[in-house]
Amino acid sequence: MKIGGVSAVVFGMLPRVAMAARNALRSVRTGVQPGDKTRLVIETSLRPSYSLSYPENQLVVDIANMSADSSVVAKLASGTLVSDIKQVQSGDHLQIVATLRKKIAELQKSQIMLLEPNGDNDYRLVLDFSASSSADKIASAVTTAGGANKTQQNKYVVIIDPGHGGKDPGCIGKNGTREKDVVLSVGRKLKNKLDAAGFKTYMTRTKDNYIKLADRAEFAERHKGDLFISLHANANPSRAVRGFSIYTLSEKASDEEAKKLAESENAADKIGVDGFTEFERDIRAALSSLQQHAVAEMSEEYANGCARAFRVSKVEAQPGPSVRHAPFAVLRSTVPGALIELGHLSNVAEERILKSADHQEKLVSAIVRSIKNYNFDV
Ligand SMILES: [Zn+2]
Repeated sequence: MKIGGVSAVVFGMLPRVAMAARNALRSVRTGVQPGDKTRLVIETSLRPSYSLSYPENQLVVDIANMSADSSVVAKLASGTLVSDIKQVQSGDHLQIVATLRKKIAELQKSQIMLLEPNGDNDYRLVLDFSASSSADKIASAVTTAGGANKTQQNKYVVIIDPGHGGKDPGCIGKNGTREKDVVLSVGRKLKNKLDAAGFKTYMTRTKDNYIKLADRAEFAERHKGDLFISLHANANPSRAVRGFSIYTLSEKASDEEAKKLAESENAADKIGVDGFTEFERDIRAALSSLQQHAVAEMSEEYANGCARAFRVSKVEAQPGPSVRHAPFAVLRSTVPGALIELGHLSNVAEERILKSADHQEKLVSAIVRSIKNYNFDV
């Protein structure tokens, strides 16, 4: 049935296929990722049904139910392994054929991401790869020489950042519950569960001490975090407001409330060292726009998954969008991540459950689930 390129087959199938929505190619682009990886992004209108093959010096992504579209011109970044991209119609399938400068190995699941539509983007199939010689082989040779045979690439590093601490209590509930205590307790429990699940974890603070926001972000980089989780609890002028919300970094806040929240969380640094004014740290400015985009995309992917895990665990959500964006200083790093407002200490009922062991356990389980489901990529 699938005899490539025979137009009679294509037209013969059209009336039937047209009944179901047909996938459309939106864009194709490449970029460079940290670790000298090449990233290929294929954006499609519907969730793509695809398969991969690796003929000599090519990577072929075969997508079902799709037609070639000459108006989609591949955007090729310089310095990648991809020298050329063509669209090749094969029956009802469209093949995105990337010609490579060097051979690559077969892609592992961890090197493939399918991102859900968000904002301006449709579905994105994201493929990361590097040349099959050099770096990868050296790394595995070192591992073998050292006698370790465990799959070290599975040891992902999660940075847990309990907000506030020391002279900065964070927000305080009507009955005196302090944000810094709740998030430290949740952070410790999270560390225990993640360690038990085989992750490598570091906490920015393990006791009641004050740490500047920029130092937390730097800590994440120094420990080569794969994911950064900042834990907070919220306060709202209206004591009726309750529920969790999750934030990722963006220069522009998604709404007024997110903007105010970022201002109040960022104010933690102003309590800082004796009148010393901290300049806004923006390490992401050092990254190429494509790398920034990748970190932002991965953060978004994590945040959406985390919101889903919270809902599945029946943690009450704050009304409005569960994932929002604002310029949080603590998220200014090269490590993808999110800031989780676990709930509202300003709401008396939620203040009570936020300090209960049962509810903390529920929150921790939801976060662990979100991390297990997250597609650790780079
Ligand atoms: Zn906070």
